[in-house]
Amino acid sequence: MLAHPRRDDDAVSTSSAPPETEDLEAVLQEVADQVRSAAEDGTVADYIPVLADADPSSFALVLSCLDGREFAVGDADQPFPIQSISKVLSLVLAARKSEATDGSGVADALWGRLGREPSGDPFNSLVQLEHERGIPRNPMINAGALVVDDILLDHCDDVPGDTLQLVERLVGEPVSFDEEVRNAERGTSHRNRALANLMADFDNLNHTVDEVLESYVAACALSLSTRQLARAFRFLANDGCDPGTGERILSASFARRCAAIMLTCGTYDAAGEFAYSVGLPCKSGVAGGIVALVPGWATIAVWSPPLDRTGNSVAGRLALDELAARLDLSIF
Ligand code: GLU
Repeated sequence: MLAHPRRDDDAVSTSSAPPETEDLEAVLQEVADQVRSAAEDGTVADYIPVLADADPSSFALVLSCLDGREFAVGDADQPFPIQSISKVLSLVLAARKSEATDGSGVADALWGRLGREPSGDPFNSLVQLEHERGIPRNPMINAGALVVDDILLDHCDDVPGDTLQLVERLVGEPVSFDEEVRNAERGTSHRNRALANLMADFDNLNHTVDEVLESYVAACALSLSTRQLARAFRFLANDGCDPGTGERILSASFARRCAAIMLTCGTYDAAGEFAYSVGLPCKSGVAGGIVALVPGWATIAVWSPPLDRTGNSVAGRLALDELAARLDLSIF
C-alpha cells in the first residue's frame, strides 16, 4: 500500500515510496493490452466533425511520478483537445489570479457565485440552473466553468493567453489551441450560450456572453498529448507544488480542495462510480482523455476517444480501474 503523507504549504516534493518492486512500464503495457479492445463498445463524440473523425483505436496511458520518472505506452505524444479537463486548469488559474490581484482570496471570488456539489444532472443542463437561480452546482459542469471564465475576465487581459502560459510552465514546453476545434466549438455553442444568458439574467455574469464564451471555447480547444496532460497535473498530486521546478502553483489547502472537486464532480454523472471503482480524483473530457491524481506519488493520464453513456472514455475508465487495483492506488 502506498503512503500518502500530508505536507504543509511550504514543503516541496517529497514523494512517498512508489512500488519499486514493479516494472511499471510492463504493468502499463499489460493494462493497455487488457483494456484497449473495450473501446469498441464506445462511441466517439460527434457534435463537431473534428471529434467525430477521431481515430477510435487511438490509445495512450502515461504514469508521471512526482520524482520525475515517467512511464508511457501507446500514442502518448499525440495531441488531442482536452475539452472539459481544462475546467480544472481554469479553476486553478482563477484561484491564482484572484488571490494575487486583490487579496480577496479564492473563497470570496468563487464560492459566492458557484457551488461545490455534484450536479446529478447532465453537464450542460439548463434545468437545474433555472431552479437554482443561475448559481451553477460546481466548476466542473459547463455553467460553472462559464462563471470561472467570467471571474478570469476580471483579472486577465487575455484569458486564453494566460491559460497557455500556465500550462506551458507546468509541462515545460510550448502547447497550443487546436484552431479547428476552437472554431467548431464557437459554431456549436448554442447550449453554452443559453447557459451564459440564463446566468446573465440572474446577475451571475459581469462580462458579456460573447466574451465569456470566447474564453470557454478556447479552453475546450487546449491541445495536449497524454504525456503533457499527466505532467500538467502533477502539482495537484503534490499539494500544489510543481515537483519539477519546486514552484508553488496553489496553496496546499486549495490544491486538496481541487482534488476533492475532481473526485466528486470530475467525471460527469459517473463520479460516484469512479470514486468507488478507481478511488482517485479524476477529470475527464469529451475527446476521451482522463487525468487521475495519486496524491503524494503520481498522476495518470489516459486517452481513448470512444465514450460510454456517461461521456467518459470506455477504455480509459477501465485502464484506471485496472491500474489502480494492480498498484493499490485508491486514496480510501
Ligand atoms: N466543448 C464541450 C461543451 O462545451 C465540452 C464537453 C466536455 O468535455 O465535457 O459542451
